[in-house]
Amino acid sequence: MSLQGWHLDETAAQLTLQVTATRARVRCPLCQALTPRVHSRYSRTLADLPWGPYTVRLHLRVRKFFCDQPACPRQLFTERLLTVAAPWARRTLRLAQRLRACGLALGGEMGARLGHRLGLPTSPDTLLRLGQEAPTPTATAPQVLGVDEWAWRRGQRYGTILVNLEDHQVLDLLPERSADLVAHWLTQHPTVTVVCRDRSALYADGIRRGAPHAVQVVDRFHLVKNLREAIEAFLHEQRPALQAAAASTAQALTRVAGSVAAPSMYRGRHRCSQVGQRRQEAAQQQRHAAWVATYEAIHTLHAQGTPVTTIAAQLGISRPTVRAYLRRTRPPSPRSPQRSGHVLRPYMAYLIQRWREGCTDSMQLWRETQALGYAYSARTVSRFITRLRQASAAGWAPETQTSPYTRPQGPSARAVSFTWVCPEAKRAQDAQLYMDQLLHAEPMLAQAYTLSQAFLALVRERRGDALVAWMTEASASGIEALARFAQGLQEDRAAITAGLTLPWSNGAVEGHVNRLKLLKRQSYGRAGVGLLRQRVMQAV
Ligand SMILES: [Zn+2]
Repeated sequence: MSLQGWHLDETAAQLTLQVTATRARVRCPLCQALTPRVHSRYSRTLADLPWGPYTVRLHLRVRKFFCDQPACPRQLFTERLLTVAAPWARRTLRLAQRLRACGLALGGEMGARLGHRLGLPTSPDTLLRLGQEAPTPTATAPQVLGVDEWAWRRGQRYGTILVNLEDHQVLDLLPERSADLVAHWLTQHPTVTVVCRDRSALYADGIRRGAPHAVQVVDRFHLVKNLREAIEAFLHEQRPALQAAAASTAQALTRVAGSVAAPSMYRGRHRCSQVGQRRQEAAQQQRHAAWVATYEAIHTLHAQGTPVTTIAAQLGISRPTVRAYLRRTRPPSPRSPQRSGHVLRPYMAYLIQRWREGCTDSMQLWRETQALGYAYSARTVSRFITRLRQASAAGWAPETQTSPYTRPQGPSARAVSFTWVCPEAKRAQDAQLYMDQLLHAEPMLAQAYTLSQAFLALVRERRGDALVAWMTEASASGIEALARFAQGLQEDRAAITAGLTLPWSNGAVEGHVNRLKLLKRQSYGRAGVGLLRQRVMQAV
């Protein structure tokens, strides 16, 4: 290429470069023969990278050539500028590459905004189109594959993500969660020898059909998740124990932290509004009625033999929620209204420290939390201070007012089940105190806990050889939920034993699924599966 001239338009901040191609002889794109005979010339205008504050346009004189080979069906052709621009493009390759990178990293809207800032103005639609046209990365010959579902629309539409577990690259994004698609993909990639998956029979079937010789491995994360769900179902039956443990945890926490003498009551304030409280109770009753109705509907449909996926679609809820309801043997009990003030949570430790120092003036404390970054109402602060005052009057440590484990109604079975499977070293002090109280109260709870810890140790230490012994013990324990969990393990035993023996796990897949969620949100719901696939596969 050679520069023939240039023009700088100061008002439009635009630099135009007149450029021509200089090769004397050019190859015919069809027969590859060299030809010198020019037929005609025409002009193309290409946008190029900016130069400082100026946008740059290339005014390009392009030639048409005769192909003189008698055997070649092509008589005329336009010279190709492969390193400059694609045949019909309106921008240079290097500009298109940068815009595509913006689009793939940030999606249409945000990418266009960043492009504007970088002096590469373009529209969101152009970025989306460039992203879709991007060449897919060259396929590798994966050996260890991770398969999992991702929510296209939570509770309604799921896709499948396939990740190479050796280099953690996304291999493909399938538009559906289906055994057929997975089987088909595997037949196209016969190098796969190990597949890591969740507990679903659907993927197990797809892998069996597509790669019959591959070793199936159940991901350990899913095993722990299933155990936690079994524990949650078990704890639903233990409501009274959960509640009793909350009361003794409040006592234990008060012993550890020490109570504070109640300061004299400030009299100038009205009591909490009765109207607001009644409204909250009514809303709670309505929510509870809805839960019970859902519970009844799900159990009725299930008893009629309706598959979980159909129930989920009919009721408009997610499959995991349907399964959670099915694990229950009775409808959920009403919950007392949640303690308000979650916006205050980050400041509670500070407020308690000030309370212990003797500062009980809620307006003063409100100003202090504001200085720390709290941006909400003084009423929320004063409500919390009232709670501290009431707790002090009753002889409780102020710390009991911030812990979910000391609420009068007790923590939820779900919350306790998470603490239950969480390693002791990672538990907060109040969570550990609660577990101590809970397990001392009931021998059956202690037994269930010992069994779960033994299973978690199998997972942690990867002792697949001890699985059968554990299953036998769980089945004989008399704890219905754990016996059912062990029964489920039996159905998928080969893959679970492999999961408890081999080093592979789907951690990298979960990471990509989280990245997908972010990408989906950035695209404001406009990304088709094609674009999403490009964005997740082309790491920028
Ligand atoms: Zn030719």
